[in-house]
Amino acid sequence: MEVTPPLFKKNSELAGSVENVFQLPELGFRVDALEPHIDAQTMMIHHGKHHATYVNKLNDAIAGTDAEKMDVEEICANISQYPAAVRNNAGGHYNHSLFWTLISPEGGGSPGGGLLEAINDSFESFEQFKKQFSAAAANRFGSGWAWLVIQDDQLVICSTPNQDNPLMDIVDVKGFPILGLDVWEHAYYLKYQNRRADYIAAFWNVVNWNEVAKRFFAP
Ligand code: MN
Repeated sequence: MEVTPPLFKKNSELAGSVENVFQLPELGFRVDALEPHIDAQTMMIHHGKHHATYVNKLNDAIAGTDAEKMDVEEICANISQYPAAVRNNAGGHYNHSLFWTLISPEGGGSPGGGLLEAINDSFESFEQFKKQFSAAAANRFGSGWAWLVIQDDQLVICSTPNQDNPLMDIVDVKGFPILGLDVWEHAYYLKYQNRRADYIAAFWNVVNWNEVAKRFFAP
């Protein structure tokens, strides 16, 4: 894969010292920056506790295995060869590292130029796209993610259970994710309780279309 943002790098590659340790990436914004759409307490716990736990458990799960030398994308692509602890926590680390880049206090609105055209071509209109993506997020039973992926040069909407993602060799719809939405209750329950639809509606106000476009044009 061409694009490997620093967020997904291991300590060893960032610092040139510590072998085998994945790390929690910094948020690119303050925890309260997405208010009122995503609240500060949710962001603090989601990033600082939930994501941190995925990182720690991933490091535990891969200790002493060949996965220590791999990027998280590579682990995901071969996930069928690993036990559930690696699947859950490599997915959790990748998905959240990506998610933090896809939301921004400067987000919302609609994508520009080429990406908007591609969305219109694939889904008739931007409104139709939002409707279909929102439905995928709303209809994912229990915990999981909704995705917009590039698959064979096509834009496709899909969803995955738990911390699975479209990079994994075990999922129904494989592809390169350019947009993802976490619909685990831990992502919204403090503010929205059972109202997942309201959280999904609020998400559109913080989508970082610049980052989505970057992934679209350089998958
Ligand atoms: Mn989450």
